[in-house]
Amino acid sequence: MPADSRTGPQKKMGIHVLEAMAREGFEEIVALHDSASNLRGFLGIHDSRVGPAFGGIRVWNYRDEDEALLDCLRLARAMTRKCALAELPAGGAKLVLIDRPDLDRRAAFAHVGDVVDRMRGRFYTGPDVGTRDEDLAIVAERTRFVTRPDAEGPGELADATCAGVVAGIAAALSHLDGEVDWPRRRIVVQGLGGVGRGVAARILALGGRVVAAEIDPVRAQKASHELGIELVDPATELEQPCDVFAPCAMGGILHDLSVARLRCRIVAGGANNVLAKRIHGERLHERGILYAPDVVITSGAVIRGVLFHLQGRREPVSEIGGRIGTVLSRILVRAREENRSPAAVANDEADERIAQTHVP
Ligand code: NAD
Repeated sequence: MPADSRTGPQKKMGIHVLEAMAREGFEEIVALHDSASNLRGFLGIHDSRVGPAFGGIRVWNYRDEDEALLDCLRLARAMTRKCALAELPAGGAKLVLIDRPDLDRRAAFAHVGDVVDRMRGRFYTGPDVGTRDEDLAIVAERTRFVTRPDAEGPGELADATCAGVVAGIAAALSHLDGEVDWPRRRIVVQGLGGVGRGVAARILALGGRVVAAEIDPVRAQKASHELGIELVDPATELEQPCDVFAPCAMGGILHDLSVARLRCRIVAGGANNVLAKRIHGERLHERGILYAPDVVITSGAVIRGVLFHLQGRREPVSEIGGRIGTVLSRILVRAREENRSPAAVANDEADERIAQTHVP
């Protein structure tokens, strides 16, 4: 399955790292290599000026190192915007590891722990796609700058993400219709992993109807059986008539072809970097589909992690949801007033906040 950087057939081209860093304002990219574990990957620190840079560890079967680096750049960049919009005293980063059959996972994560520790608190890490609790436990043996998956940590990060996504969906529905009214809503969820399943469960508990697509048949059947979710064939979910399409799998899924297929009123989900390119935010706007920007509604985990590490707080998920709903509502109102896409407004607002914080 494509990662966040995969947006369709691409011409093979090398990335000019320094040019990309300059264009996106990166502080540092560290290339990681460890012969003992066969680890290869990248750590991207986008911005640590207002506070430590936060970003999880993604383990993915990237086609090559260019694809891994591009994913690292895009994800770290988005993390800075997420932190700015959530008004957190932190910046963005990402660590990506190239998954390969000869990777010695235990040794690789021990090495990652040492790399993180050497940053001396300029970088905090945690889970992302492909990372398991046992991997993070190994990292936590080597450094304290990681979100622990056990009772000593801030609590479930995916829970915080789900609460934020559902609060975002509610805010978007209220923005369009003046009310949420869950029982009359049909939500289509793409992906039933940690985030998608949690989002589905929350919506069902609120009385909404959930339809889902999941490419892993075992996971799909389990969720369907346990939660009573109606399943549709993967790849048909885009064409399902619904109130909300909630992408909770990988990024880059909204591009020229897929935007044209959507039959929803709102796109709001947990996946990072849902839009293949910025222009696809405009395409949604032109089609009259309201987009709840992922940089706003997926920030639950980073809010929880930052408040725990930097302020010693275990923030309840209800507070996190409330905070995200408020920010999203403000952005949607501004987008309506200015007749612009919410994606563009969110990016501008994030960049304005970052610029204000960094007046020389
Ligand atoms: P996960 O790996 O647990 O789940 C992803 C699920 O999507 C898997 O079950 C996979 O089989 C399925 N999937 C992949 N491609 C699909 C497709 N085309 N159609 C249907 N199903 C598909 O990952 P997760 O932790 O649930 O994260 C999901 C997304 O949310 C990612 O983009 C991640 O970056 C983002 N996110 C997660 C968190 C968090 O706290 N976990 C926080 C912010 C953002």
